[in-house]
Amino acid sequence: MADSKKWHLVIDIARCSDCNNCFLADKDEFVGNDWLPYSVAQPWNGHRWMNIERRERGHFPKVDAAHLPLPCMHCDDPPCAANAPEGAVYKRADGLVLIDPVKAKGHREILDSCPYGAIYWNEEAQVAQKCTGCAHLLDEGWTQTRCSQVCPTEALKLVLATDAEMADLVRSDGLEPYRPELGTRPRVYYKNLYRWTKAFLAGSVVYGDSGECAKGAKVTLTQNGQRVAEVTANEFGDFKFDCLEPGSDYTLQVEAAGYKSMERTVSVAEESTVLPDLFLERR
Ligand code: SF4
Ligand code: SF4
Repeated sequence: MADSKKWHLVIDIARCSDCNNCFLADKDEFVGNDWLPYSVAQPWNGHRWMNIERRERGHFPKVDAAHLPLPCMHCDDPPCAANAPEGAVYKRADGLVLIDPVKAKGHREILDSCPYGAIYWNEEAQVAQKCTGCAHLLDEGWTQTRCSQVCPTEALKLVLATDAEMADLVRSDGLEPYRPELGTRPRVYYKNLYRWTKAFLAGSVVYGDSGECAKGAKVTLTQNGQRVAEVTANEFGDFKFDCLEPGSDYTLQVEAAGYKSMERTVSVAEESTVLPDLFLERR
């Protein structure tokens, strides 16, 4: 069978500014609007078909925040479909997963089957609901979802691609699914996911005798004797290593001409680690 084109959403965590335009566009499209046979109207309150979560790493002044837009992942092995009555939740040939609002009526158990928490219960309509991938618009020839259309930073991109083309894009752009260990094979991919899943180690190096920032100091990180990374302290003496596994231990070495080499064992915390200032002693 030919490798047909399917819809994917690519989300760049580093570009999301938490403006909530995507969330509001979803509300504008679905609240109060029946799009049968795709979906009945979303209720006014309680649903977040495009949910945006927030994570902070580090602490002042070495801190960053990331936002993770979390829609339905339109999984290729969707447990929501596997645990629903026949035909109530279905996977389309174009990759989208839809809940049939007629066949799924009354089946609240569908809510519990999504490991991403992407399904919501509509009490008035007595039906489980979620992001439809704007299937009603794409079927009319749209090439954007409402959320991707309004994103001002291009953090959301809708991609129509074959599996082979998508595999190339995953490789070239460093894309990853979120929580692949769940085994659902999502069709939503993330760029810069390390901002959500990994931790950083940061600090500042100071010349102990003068109190000046140790610009140019060489900072090396090793683990089990293997060199992980090396950076040079900037004009403020600051250094940072990112994409580290939270909860892991490393050895940090600092070297600068005319000063004694310094070595520390450091642990990278779940929410990242900011070290106290490191003072170098004159040789
Ligand atoms: S519209 Fe774009 S930048 Fe704004 S919250 Fe959504 S994904 Fe983030
Ligand atoms: S994210 Fe949840 S609701 Fe969406 S297809 Fe996967 S299992 Fe189903």
